[in-house]
Amino acid sequence: MKDIEIIPSILREVIEKISELPGYGEKSAQRLALNLLNMPRGEALQIIKTLFDMLEKIHPCVECGLFTEKEICDICSSEERDRSVICVVEETFDAFAIEKTGKFNGLYHVVGGRLSPLEGITPEDLNIDKLIERVDKGNIKEVILATNPTVEGEATASYIYNLLKNKNITVSRIAYGLPFGAVLENADDFTLAKALEHKTPI
Ligand code: ZN
Repeated sequence: MKDIEIIPSILREVIEKISELPGYGEKSAQRLALNLLNMPRGEALQIIKTLFDMLEKIHPCVECGLFTEKEICDICSSEERDRSVICVVEETFDAFAIEKTGKFNGLYHVVGGRLSPLEGITPEDLNIDKLIERVDKGNIKEVILATNPTVEGEATASYIYNLLKNKNITVSRIAYGLPFGAVLENADDFTLAKALEHKTPI
């Protein structure tokens, strides 16, 4: 008797596609697909519609890389921000976490990930050139490296530090308060505020 493929091909394709996302294995892809199939169809379609809207409307800010609905994000276009300080983060949600502390009034720069030889992520894959360009344009006095205190985050910070160290600006690294291996997005406001307060020049 011939083997029959019991999983419908569309479902197989969905699981395959979702498993291509970083952080999603086959099991979590299956769970997501099943959750959607088990939901009332209207609710599931609403989720898909929201995802569709997000993909149509949200783009990285051309200046800093924060995800925004506008060409230039609200922070970059604000008159109230200190335009001489740039806080470098891995991802948009790290910037949002710092923003929530209310302790930072400068601009951001999202590099869009972290250096990781294991995952094949090299400097060319990150939004680093644009950061150097922003610094070279002048008016920047300080760059705060707020990548995550993980092995990859440290490697990213030190790579950027080396590009900036001769540029006659202060380069700082957030440190105090954040345990090594922590992820900014998950840190509580107090810890994150402390980490910013006790940033140290490198
Ligand atoms: Zn921006």
